[in-house]
Amino acid sequence: MKVLLAGGAGYIGSHTALALLNAGHDVIIVDNYCNSSPESVRRVEQLAGRPVELYEADVRDSSALLSILSGSRPDSVIHFAGLKAVGESVQVPLAYYRNNLDATLTLLECMGKTGVRNIVFSSSATVYGEDAPVPYVETMPRGRCSNPYGWTKSMIEQILEDAAVADSDLSVVLLRYFNPVGAHESGRIGEDPRGIPNNLMPYISQVAVGRRECLNIFGNDYPTPDGTCRRDFIHVMDLAEGHARALEYGAGRKGVEVFNLGTGTPYSVLEMLHAFEKACGFPLKHAFAERRAGDLPEFWADAGKAKRILGWQAKRSLDDMCRDAWNWQEQNPMGYQPS
Ligand code: NAD
Ligand code: UDP
Repeated sequence: MKVLLAGGAGYIGSHTALALLNAGHDVIIVDNYCNSSPESVRRVEQLAGRPVELYEADVRDSSALLSILSGSRPDSVIHFAGLKAVGESVQVPLAYYRNNLDATLTLLECMGKTGVRNIVFSSSATVYGEDAPVPYVETMPRGRCSNPYGWTKSMIEQILEDAAVADSDLSVVLLRYFNPVGAHESGRIGEDPRGIPNNLMPYISQVAVGRRECLNIFGNDYPTPDGTCRRDFIHVMDLAEGHARALEYGAGRKGVEVFNLGTGTPYSVLEMLHAFEKACGFPLKHAFAERRAGDLPEFWADAGKAKRILGWQAKRSLDDMCRDAWNWQEQNPMGYQPS
């Protein structure tokens, strides 16, 4: 299959590109590098031993996108292109709505004009909202999101559902990611956040490599077994392989389907820290701090539907996640920038 990855130079997109190339698919990437660089794609090509068709363009630029789609004629699109920092989305909500919604609308319009009928969308567990019981199951309705980033995901799911009602030829697969972490086992590609990491795993990795002094653990008085929050951390290569299955599934059908991509098992912030210490082989400085606004105590996936219908389940353990994250960070202390 020929697959266009919008936002494919980013963290999840680059790992998915590699999984798709390794599964024999052809990959086209469109990215404006607002949160990535072409270096990730260069490394994906090296690892796969095959080229990627790479375009620097904003997905909101319909003339650029039309020319790419009509020239390359992909069978399917995976839509990763979006801004994703929760805290920043509270500060600059309009930039989040503008980028994430416009990118989706332009992509759908251009797909319509060029006859591309299959789309897989990077959604998030955040769409279940603040009040959903755990574990999250796909049959639950979308809930009230606690920040503009989450609302963009919820709104985009609605837009895609409406588009599929109006166009019975459209196939939409909504993938609700839980907490992707880790890196490809080679250590050549990985997560490279700009500035101070918001997310737990890159923060821990940067403490381990000496870029940050101390991990602040946001809250140790939650109603959880050790008082710290629990999340469903999933290895990014498991997630990438889930996309390959979702693509194959989506290409053979019409309408909308939604899948959780998680492991089904939660780990706490402290468990994550200790697993990482085991992987790197030394203790990491940490301190307990105030709760972070908007954090939920715990959530994890019911991962049964993806297993039943896609035949996919996460295979990699927490130790694998920490080993691979550390391998990437140790080999690339400054990420893709030359150190
Ligand atoms: P990322 O920032 O590494 O990747 C997103 C990519 O999209 C970047 O390369 C960025 O340059 C590009 N992009 C953004 N806007 C664009 C535009 N208008 N035109 C062209 N390119 C554009 O993020 P990621 O972690 O790889 O996440 C990929 C997708 O998955 C995002 O939509 C994100 O919201 C979603 N998601 C991520 C997580 C997570 O924890 N990483 C969890 C749930 C959902
Ligand atoms: N967390 C933390 N310190 C950090 C970053 C995150 O204690 O520096 C906690 C955060 O409060 C949450 C968990 O780690 O309980 C996962 O946070 P992350 O931002 O990685 O993912 P989220 O589930 O919020 O999308």
